[in-house]
Amino acid sequence: MKAIPYDYLIIGQGLAGSILSYHLMAEKQSVLVIDNHHHQSSSRVAAGMINPITGHRLSLSQDFEHYYAVAKQCYASMGHAIQTELISFVKQRRLIRNTGQLDYLGKRLEQPEYQEILHDFDESPTEFHNPQIGSIGVNSSAVVDCKQLLDSVSVWLEQHSALRKMKVNYQDLKNEGQHIALGEIRAKAVIFCEGAAAIANPWLNHLPFKLAKGEILSLKLEQDYDGRLLNWGDWMAPSSSSQVVKLGSSYEWNDLDLTTSEETAEKLLTSLHENTHFSGEVIEHQAGIRPASKDRRPFIGAMQNLNNAYCFNGFGSKGCLIIPFYAQLLCDHLINDTAISRELTKWL
Ligand SMILES: Cc1cc2nc3c(=O)[nH]c(=O)nc-3n(C[C@H](O)[C@H](O)[C@H](O)COP(=O)(O)OP(=O)(O)OC[C@H]3O[C@@H](n4cnc5c(N)ncnc54)[C@H](O)[C@@H]3O)c2cc1C
Repeated sequence: MKAIPYDYLIIGQGLAGSILSYHLMAEKQSVLVIDNHHHQSSSRVAAGMINPITGHRLSLSQDFEHYYAVAKQCYASMGHAIQTELISFVKQRRLIRNTGQLDYLGKRLEQPEYQEILHDFDESPTEFHNPQIGSIGVNSSAVVDCKQLLDSVSVWLEQHSALRKMKVNYQDLKNEGQHIALGEIRAKAVIFCEGAAAIANPWLNHLPFKLAKGEILSLKLEQDYDGRLLNWGDWMAPSSSSQVVKLGSSYEWNDLDLTTSEETAEKLLTSLHENTHFSGEVIEHQAGIRPASKDRRPFIGAMQNLNNAYCFNGFGSKGCLIIPFYAQLLCDHLINDTAISRELTKWL
């Protein structure tokens, strides 16, 4: 058996493995990605939203502008390389549901960091039913076409002989001192990017994940739709097809199987009908597991329990926003030996 050498072996081609492999290959590293193309991987199910404002308190995500600047640049450059438009900049309207939330909005509008983000309070918004209070526009909102990204990166990797479609059995992965071996494959290092499936990885199953199942519907709308992202706690987001929207999404921390439930679909549809004038035919109902961590920080860096191994995981429900930034960070670390903060490495 003749050994096939690579710089990096990446396990998993979700958003994390896709974006990381792109960065490493752009730096002229030889990469092999192995993926079992799970049709319910978190990245295949995701709505792809980048949304600066979250929660009842209308909080601006920490370091949002920083992550967003890197993400925009990354999706533009990847899109150019794989000849696909990956990111759309969308208008967002956010329903202000009650007087408590209106108080938060008042505070936010006085804070300098919200000035560029929140705009045009509308006391009688037409897009929502029962708009007790009103709605606010949210700038810096975008949607990443995750499915397109995964499919196009998959083709691009195959063109570079850098993809194998198979499941990695961890017992076949060996550390041989100077390198990692998997069958005839030899790599300077392996990078684990398996998302929630990492709990089956014997070197990663100690990590403090707080996995969260999410269900999401694709709807073919019956009404005309101008492509705006509508957010009322639940949300309706545009997709690559003009009359199809994503409606989501549920959070469930105990039942982590990948089945979908009629009850959840009904809840989402009721929420849509109660809050907006939209309705539509359900054309797809999916479930996925968000690879979230207990302290909401990703797990990134060299592993202590396996030499020549790195982890790139824990991106929770914000993968589209934060993976580009952290892929650049890990890539710089691997190539230029730049530091990774203890916050990201402490569990590895
Ligand atoms: C319902 C839902 C909605 C979401 N909406 C959004 C959103 O709007 N915006 C946002 O930013 N994020 C959203 N997310 C979160 C987002 O999906 C994740 O942050 C992101 O996709 C995680 O990517 P990942 O590559 O780490 O993991 P994954 O997407 O799970 O990818 C892991 C890959 O590794 C492969 N793999 C695993 N084990 C093996 C093995 N042993 N051998 C070979 N291959 C393997 C899997 O098949 C998969 O392809 C949503 C998630 C869900 C569930």
